Amino acid sequence: MDVYDKSLADRRKRETPALIYLDLDNFKLLNDTLGHQVGDELLRQLALRIKEVLRQGDLLARMGGDEFAVLLPSADRASAMAAARRIIEVFDYPFTLGEHAIHVQASLGVALFPEHGQTLDALARAADVAMYQAKQSQTHIAIYDPTQDINSVERLETIQHLRKTIQQGRFLIQYQPILNIAERYVNKWEALVRWEHPTRGLLRPADFVPLAEESGLIGELDLVVLKQAVQDQKRLGGELAINFSAVTLAHPNWVREVVRALVDEALQPSMLWLEITESALLPERQKWLGGLVALRGLGVRVALDDFGMGYSSLAHLKQVPVDLIKIDRSFVAEIGQSQTSEDILRAMLQLASAFGLKTLAEGVESRAQLEWLAHHGCHYAQGYYIGLPMSVEQASAKVFPGAF
Ligand code: C2E
Ligand code: CA
Ligand code: CA
Repeated sequence: MDVYDKSLADRRKRETPALIYLDLDNFKLLNDTLGHQVGDELLRQLALRIKEVLRQGDLLARMGGDEFAVLLPSADRASAMAAARRIIEVFDYPFTLGEHAIHVQASLGVALFPEHGQTLDALARAADVAMYQAKQSQTHIAIYDPTQDINSVERLETIQHLRKTIQQGRFLIQYQPILNIAERYVNKWEALVRWEHPTRGLLRPADFVPLAEESGLIGELDLVVLKQAVQDQKRLGGELAINFSAVTLAHPNWVREVVRALVDEALQPSMLWLEITESALLPERQKWLGGLVALRGLGVRVALDDFGMGYSSLAHLKQVPVDLIKIDRSFVAEIGQSQTSEDILRAMLQLASAFGLKTLAEGVESRAQLEWLAHHGCHYAQGYYIGLPMSVEQASAKVFPGAF
């Protein structure tokens, strides 16, 4: 590429437009307290100030209310942000409105063509979203960030895709063995959901469970997993543990659906464990407590997952119908590493048995950890040392060594 070509390419690169949206903070309040005329005067002065800091060719438009848009015909990321900073500086000085000197603040959203939108509409939407991001984070200026955009096309597509996968019941479930420590045999499996995504590969729950929770799909997802796992149980043998999100518990139909799944597959309720996290137990107890008590009355058992992770654990043990606590793997990882952590772990095990609860240690990765747990009276162990999560085919064919 010769010099001429390069400078042309550079110029082309610079000649893409950028859009800035501006919205005043608390304008409505000002309007309501000082009156519309004062508000209008403020907007007029503001428009003048902004025009002074714009370059020739830049366009300023009022979008209605207290919103303005600035179109920069040719700007890259750096020059668009520089323009945004020049605009935000006009708010450094108070506006004189009648006898009032008033300080106002604003939030600016920046969007670049074609990166953030390939039509004017899409670009306007991106600038608008960025403006809200700026307002929420109180940074005054934000450039559009699709991962922060709860309505980004990617996110909406993923939600639709997730919804379809739920409708078709097409999740992969892996089962991880749980060892009964005293008797040294595996008689329980935890179901862990995976999503085989056509372009992103095999996704772990962390990649889609939060999205399912935020989009209201988690209840259906948990029930799809439950139904599949209850069917698979015939091949696995043993007890079955299922993870239930807090959002699912609050769903009005969840108890009926759990019972239906058990009846349909003729599984004894006592073969099913529901794993719920401590954080699930914090809000709106009345919404789920009755259902949990009813299921437990039928024989379904309840495990408190990730125990010890920072909620007021002790208080919950007294108030919630729980049969087993699953001690978070961060404690297990400290065995042999930290005396304090071992002391805490020992105290947890003692506390659980004082409440008449069973204990399960997660994330057991070594023989030494397992021996320590056996020595301190922990009932169950789960982790890579016992077995990885595996398909139902692998799980049903698996023979465990007697040597644990
Ligand atoms: P969890 O219930 O604490 O599940 C245990 C997680 O630890 C699993 O990750 C498992 O693969 C991993 N793990 C097992 N043994 C070891 C070990 O020895 N060392 C280490 N480092 N990790 C180990 P996974 O499958 O990614 O699941 C993550 C979380 O997703 C689960 O945490 C559970 O809270 C949630 N989850 C899984 N399936 C479902 C589901 O069907 N519904 C809902 N609502 N949540 C689910
Ligand atoms: Ca779990
Ligand atoms: Ca856990």
